[in-house]
Amino acid sequence: MPLPKRRHSKTRGRKRRTHWKLDSLNLIPCPQCKQSKLAHRVCSVCGYYSGKQVIEIKVKEKKKTPKQK
Ligand SMILES: [Zn+2]
Repeated sequence: MPLPKRRHSKTRGRKRRTHWKLDSLNLIPCPQCKQSKLAHRVCSVCGYYSGKQVIEIKVKEKKKTPKQK
């Protein structure tokens, strides 16, 4: 097993990790319902993709609220 010869400082590791970033989501307006949706994905609001309905969207049923004490 190869092992590092010297321990890296906390700063050195932290400096390397400054480049670990999340990209922002690529949101576009849906051509069908104009809600914002992820590009190249089926719209989760209307279920359309490239002008066709590809999935059925079920209307959300309200969950029974759990008993609160
Ligand atoms: Zn839509």
